Amino acid sequence: PPLDLDGAQRTHDLDRAHVFHSWSAQGALDPMVITGAQGSWIWDGSGRPLLDFSSQLVNTNIGHQHPAVVRGIQEQAAKICTVAPQHANAARSEAARLIVERAPGDDLNHVFFTNGGAEAIENAVRMARLHTGRRKVLTRYRSYHGHTQAAIHMTGDPRRWPNDTGAEGVVHFFGPYTYRSAFHASTDDEECARALEHLEAVVQMEGPATIAAIVLETIPGTAGIMVPPPGYLAGVREICDRYGILWIADEVMAGFGRSGAWFSVEHFQATGGGTLAPDLITFAKGVNSGYVPLGGVLINGPVYETFRERPYPGGLTYSGHPLACAAAVATITAMTDEGIIENAARIGAEVIGPRLAELQGKHEVIGEVRGLGVFWALELVKDRATREPLVPYNASGAAAAPMNALVGACKKRGLLPFVNMNRLHVVPPCTVTEGEARLGLDLLDDALTEVVSTLS
Ligand code: PLP
Repeated sequence: PPLDLDGAQRTHDLDRAHVFHSWSAQGALDPMVITGAQGSWIWDGSGRPLLDFSSQLVNTNIGHQHPAVVRGIQEQAAKICTVAPQHANAARSEAARLIVERAPGDDLNHVFFTNGGAEAIENAVRMARLHTGRRKVLTRYRSYHGHTQAAIHMTGDPRRWPNDTGAEGVVHFFGPYTYRSAFHASTDDEECARALEHLEAVVQMEGPATIAAIVLETIPGTAGIMVPPPGYLAGVREICDRYGILWIADEVMAGFGRSGAWFSVEHFQATGGGTLAPDLITFAKGVNSGYVPLGGVLINGPVYETFRERPYPGGLTYSGHPLACAAAVATITAMTDEGIIENAARIGAEVIGPRLAELQGKHEVIGEVRGLGVFWALELVKDRATREPLVPYNASGAAAAPMNALVGACKKRGLLPFVNMNRLHVVPPCTVTEGEARLGLDLLDDALTEVVSTLS
């Protein structure tokens, strides 16, 4: 791609002078300038290519600069750039149809569009509270739901702690995570049964008649890509049905191809029985790969009926923005036509999974490898027997040094990784080729060798 290398230093200097960055102490930042992007690759300020195994913030599912999506945005921009939410618009109507057609079951037939994931969560919870007339929301530890007021309280990772003011109505519980079981389980079956018993006990102790919704990332993403054991989500559905609670599936990261399916709920369908479907699904990221900000809530029949006569008390100036929706139409169409979901599933099963298992055999520091599609976590440990994390939960400064060293070793070799706490996530675009996946994993292998040799 054309790179603006002459401007790179100025970009960096202006950023440091005027841009305030997310989740960071501002003084110590040294952001990498990105001067170009194409497919699975980005180019830095010196014109060096890096293989993007982070998909930015796990959102460029279709890769960078997909020509059909760029064209879709350009064509929409030439027609009409913006339309207020109360009017109808072709791009929005078409995006809603394409999303509904891919939703699990046959009852998620309406979409409320937002500008991103956190707003989708806010609105899903608002709908659930109004629909049930109940206040509380149950969410799991080790989760991320966004940074807005309700979403950050629902988040079960340390980003919640400094924002935990007025957390009324949110109760956290432990979800299934066999590798670090909260229930002393040693198999997935035990973990599943005990996690469901625990959830039901929490429901009973909190008072079922006070609980509007159980909100779960279908596969918790940033928190560690803990694929739930078979039967867990069906069990959650049963608990919700037993107590009149809504199940909200947060598919912001897990949806639109990341796990090798349109929606990750698809992986957990019970054999026999009806289709497993949540009452509300939140989505964002992969719906249009973040080319223009977009998120939303898929709404089932009963919740929709609540608002048939009664006005829904929520709205956004940019709900269903034409440029964002045109990007979604182009993205979903290209993902369908080009078999991109299938590619993600195949690369995960045939390349990433087996190669990561090899790396685990070679590097003692890898305690567990888990995932599916292009959604994988390596859990790094000091000791395989004790499973002590390589860096403590929420480590910063010197305590986080080994993970920072690993990022440095990857970038030096031309690989842009995604790391969180003691985990490295392998989350390339769904379009990643077999050759790119193999190259990235070889670079990771080398980087691990270098960093492990420096650990005491
Ligand atoms: N939910 C999940 C599962 C996410 O991974 C994220 C973002 O990473 C969000 C919600 C928040 O989305 P956004 O950053 O678009 O507000």
